[in-house]
Amino acid sequence: MSRPSISELERKYLLDAFDSGWISSLGDYVVRAEDKLKTIGGVTHAAVVSNGTTALHLALLALDIGPGDEVIIPSSTYVATLNAVLYVGALPVIVDVDPVTWCISPDAVHEALTTKTRAVIAVDLYGHPADYGSLREICGPAGVVLVADAAESIGGSLQGVPVGALADVSTFSFFGNKVVTSGEGGAVVTQDAEVDRRIRKLRNQGNHEDRRYFHDILGYNYRMTNLAAAILCAQLERLPELLSSRQGVVEQYDRLFELNPTLVPQGRASGAAASPWMYSLELKGELAGRRDDIMSQMRAEGVETRPVFNTVESMPYLKSFRSSPTPVAGTLAKSGVSLPTFPGMTPSEVEHVVTSLFRACGLTK
Ligand SMILES: *Cc1c(COP(=O)(O)O)cnc(C)c1O
Repeated sequence: MSRPSISELERKYLLDAFDSGWISSLGDYVVRAEDKLKTIGGVTHAAVVSNGTTALHLALLALDIGPGDEVIIPSSTYVATLNAVLYVGALPVIVDVDPVTWCISPDAVHEALTTKTRAVIAVDLYGHPADYGSLREICGPAGVVLVADAAESIGGSLQGVPVGALADVSTFSFFGNKVVTSGEGGAVVTQDAEVDRRIRKLRNQGNHEDRRYFHDILGYNYRMTNLAAAILCAQLERLPELLSSRQGVVEQYDRLFELNPTLVPQGRASGAAASPWMYSLELKGELAGRRDDIMSQMRAEGVETRPVFNTVESMPYLKSFRSSPTPVAGTLAKSGVSLPTFPGMTPSEVEHVVTSLFRACGLTK
């Protein structure tokens, strides 16, 4: 499904950090990674943290969102988006996604707004940026903060604006299968100096700026180590190469699925440059109901795939939430599949995946 691209550069930086003795969360690579993230995201502030989930948690904490507040999230996303809302004690309000881009539907967000809505978390699903233009028009006048869960979309852009600068606060994940990895890792980026100050304090046990061992707010240990940051620096320097290698895979898939009415890839909005994270498609017609069989047949041929995320409202521990109907997310959860996508995947490997999928579907190509 995925394989990280780890080069000599990652090795060099990691060993340099190791040999320096700065193996914990103080060190040059932490600062360097944050500087690089500012450039890539087109923002003035970046803070690296332990993973993409803690990045979301800190973003909501820094925005002072908590009990009594409502946060609107899409039904189709990785569970971390939901969990961050629950960690701060806010009420998740779950809405449907757009049938073409699979990202949060601005119309559904508009309808879900109440006087208690404090934030919308848009998710750039499988790397495709959400419709931030429309979301801003809805959130701005309502005084609602727009957060981007950009865990899957580093390197993408919308109308030329990079992912990172599209929302008030954006979060990244650097898990092993993401476009950029540090093993485990994450970041929060923003133009807002006060939000950044709060993030830095919260990730470091709420330590007072001047007084040692004096913690004037409840904080967390959500820091990234200098070792992870060293790997991250190398990956960020290699971002153009990582993106173009993945992009080649995506373009080959696109060609192979062209004009096939029963295998319909996630669509792209005009002006959007998606980060090539995981190539995903929807099985249509009679294939839709056979998704799980098709996946196991491919598995038997050595081809690993992933189902599209289950709807967040289907998580059994979720007791208190509001939601509007989510037919699109529900359909994607049952009939969507993600295909292996990673840098360095060869044309014949892509070909093999598609041949296996066609065979499992009973289609000839
Ligand atoms: C990967 C991911 C996260 C969380 O990242 P971790 O680094 O695994 O904690 C959050 N949201 C989305 C949409 C993701 O894909």
